[in-house]
Amino acid sequence: MDCLFCKILAGEIPSAKVYENQWVYAFRDINPQAPVHVLVIPKTHIASADGINAENSAAVAHIFEAIPEIAKVEGLVNGYRVITNCGEDGCQSVKHLHFHVLGGKKLPEKMG
Ligand code: 5GP
Ligand code: ZN
Repeated sequence: MDCLFCKILAGEIPSAKVYENQWVYAFRDINPQAPVHVLVIPKTHIASADGINAENSAAVAHIFEAIPEIAKVEGLVNGYRVITNCGEDGCQSVKHLHFHVLGGKKLPEKMG
């Protein structure tokens, strides 16, 4: 499959790993928007938030179980932001579900 993040999961494209378990992989964004900018992805290919359904939603639960662990190892004791961009209007550029975890500074109040 021609998917950038599946290639990262396969080790075909290098990435800076932050966290990994059976279901989830997390790595540093190549173009960080904050002092800490981690991408958290399911090891199964789901195209976007719009592709989540009753059959695959456990992957999302695993991601949200991993996020507090990632926040801990990254030292995000003062909080952080979790974002997923979806589709054209959401400006999603990589079509493999991913959650941005941003922190390490006070983030802008507005998001839209
Ligand atoms: P999106 O715009 O789809 O929400 O987020 C995609 C993110 O992937 C962007 O923040 C972009 O910087 C990041 N990204 C794109 N290509 C690569 C890559 O090859 N390696 C890593 N680590 N991040 C990437
Ligand atoms: Zn993929």
